[in-house]
Amino acid sequence: MLPVRHNSGSNLDLGLSTARGRGRCKNPLCNYVYKNRHKPQHCPNCGWELSRAASRKSKIPASVEGVASLENVLDPYTPLTAAQKDIQRQNTLLLLRRSLQIPESEAELQDALALIQQLNSTQVVVTSSGDETSAQLQTGWPCFYEPPAELCSLCQYPLFKGGHGSAAGQEDCWLLTESHLQTATIQLKICINPQCLALHSLVDLYPGLFNVGNKLLVSVDLFFKIRNHIRLGHDPTLAALSVLQNVQNQQECNVDMQELQELLCSGYWAFESLTVRDYNDMICGVCGIAPKVEIAQRNTNNALLLHNVKFTWPDFAASDEVHVDEFWLTMENEALEQAAFPSSPPITRFDASIIAPFIPPLMRNSTVINTERDKIQSDECTGDLSMLVRLIHEGRLSPENLFDDQTHDELMSVLQSCGVPVSPDSSKNELIHRVCSLYTHIQNGQATGSQPPHHMTAGKLSKLCPHQVVCGSKYMVRNETARDHVDLLLSSRFWPPVYITDAAQQVALCTDVLYPELGLQMWGRNQGCFSDPMGKAEYVSCEELQDQLYSVDLMAVETPQVHPVTKSPSRWIVSPAGSLSADRHPHHNMALCRELEAYTGLVEELHSNSDLEADGLTEEAPPSVNAVRRRALTFDSAAYYYLYNRLLDFLLSREVVSAQIAQVLSACQPGEVVIRDALYRLGVAQINTENEEDEEEVEETGVELKSDLKEELVLD
Ligand SMILES: [Zn+2]
Ligand SMILES: [Zn+2]
Ligand SMILES: [Zn+2]
Repeated sequence: MLPVRHNSGSNLDLGLSTARGRGRCKNPLCNYVYKNRHKPQHCPNCGWELSRAASRKSKIPASVEGVASLENVLDPYTPLTAAQKDIQRQNTLLLLRRSLQIPESEAELQDALALIQQLNSTQVVVTSSGDETSAQLQTGWPCFYEPPAELCSLCQYPLFKGGHGSAAGQEDCWLLTESHLQTATIQLKICINPQCLALHSLVDLYPGLFNVGNKLLVSVDLFFKIRNHIRLGHDPTLAALSVLQNVQNQQECNVDMQELQELLCSGYWAFESLTVRDYNDMICGVCGIAPKVEIAQRNTNNALLLHNVKFTWPDFAASDEVHVDEFWLTMENEALEQAAFPSSPPITRFDASIIAPFIPPLMRNSTVINTERDKIQSDECTGDLSMLVRLIHEGRLSPENLFDDQTHDELMSVLQSCGVPVSPDSSKNELIHRVCSLYTHIQNGQATGSQPPHHMTAGKLSKLCPHQVVCGSKYMVRNETARDHVDLLLSSRFWPPVYITDAAQQVALCTDVLYPELGLQMWGRNQGCFSDPMGKAEYVSCEELQDQLYSVDLMAVETPQVHPVTKSPSRWIVSPAGSLSADRHPHHNMALCRELEAYTGLVEELHSNSDLEADGLTEEAPPSVNAVRRRALTFDSAAYYYLYNRLLDFLLSREVVSAQIAQVLSACQPGEVVIRDALYRLGVAQINTENEEDEEEVEETGVELKSDLKEELVLD
């Protein structure tokens, strides 16, 4: 089977976080680890109930070694009951997860890929019967496949194989490689432990082959081809079709191409779900985990179709927190299940409040939130909301207690200041109602994106560093509002000193209203602007945003509000220069700040539509990273939609990072190595060879070199 890279379970966090406060799944066959405060009810890996009440009645005996009494085993000649099929599904997925860990890079699969090449090469076999001689092309691939295991690797029970009519008979399937599409037969084997029943033909069948539901065997090089198509912005379904169409020799002509295409696609997403990735590898080598500037980018055309998926919203006041790892494991498990058991019904009802953003682990805050269910479409509202927030800051309005704290005249004057026409005869209740509607308009989140068509979700909102590396992406069901920006910013480990969006004022006011203390620490009464929004807009220079060369002591600044690079709690929310939003709210215009001038061109490029219209998805000229990220693409399957977007963010970002690493490497002197510093930025360290007792004592000299690199990368 595929070379297995065992996940040592070692901490990839570079020692920045500890294993304290973690628990392990109680299923002895499973090694899922969760944070205690995020303890899921069911293990997302194996389905084991983790809540305390349930943990006593376990489904699998705590100790399975030495369970020698085979009296209570499966009768393989009786069809499996629905409950048994459930157990089988769950444990087969667990078996897949535990035995198949596919390396990210093709280079690590060289042996398997070489074997595939060798078996693909055809020979002409000449057969003659009587006078007739015919020549046939044959590959080296066998026609019959049987997993070699005799014992179940989950529970050590013996495996059973039988003939037709048994629970583990033989199945006819397709064998698909780059050169051939032909038929083959698989001998199934199942575990006879009635608590396990794992299906063993899906793993360990043959080197380099991936088994999709015992219906299709695919050589894994084809999955790398699909991944390359996706990197170029192609629709995964069409990528699968193009791979199928390029198979040179198709033995049979009565092939259901659509069924094959679907199997190939679901196999692909299972393959990606079993691929071992460190998502921290995509963190920008220049900005590290604490970019100074982040730029919002939306893609409303990258959406999930709602024909087959129905979103539900919890009707109780649940917490804002989402369980990120659990969400992504659930999506992966759904992809695995679709590939292992193609006839299982896909997810059709989906609790929208569990949808988590994608943020590389080291860039995540300890609490990640999604407040989308509180986004309420409020009526059109006229009034100066910025003034309303100013009045709150000045203590002239206390929205908590309008009735007792404010007099009729005060309410009148608040509304007049906000430009809301009121007649002096209005009752106090009427005035309160008007003030409330202004306030809740900010609280619910002012719309910052357009309303999606009724059969689609609202797309995706990402924030990027100036090197076009994705720092986080949020997927929205309802149309984008200021809340989505605030959710994404608060879910990040560091709120960036400068956040550039065409919804700057809405985002700043939403922060001021939902998190007043935070707003006060970040920008006082300035509402995210460079200067007092009630005064004259001024051209400024922000000392904090100038390049600093001293090194960063992360431990010393890990007070949440002080940014580790600027060493300051100051933050700004700004609009792209020349945008409509900058015209409407001139105090947020990024052109007002000297230190942001260098970013103007980049921001314009990220928001322009020119390379989208050109749609350069041709073979000759690969499209820009920005064009791929902003492609219009819709999905029918929720799992594939989320997995695709995470994959694309990773692939495109890591490509930038690989170029950065190559650049640093090329400047390395003998005896130097490329490292990531405490903020995960690239640097160069010297290997100290004199001191041989410490294995590799490295001395950081990276900081100055990095700032050279930064200039080059920003300016080109
Ligand atoms: Zn588990
Ligand atoms: Zn077993
Ligand atoms: Zn960067």
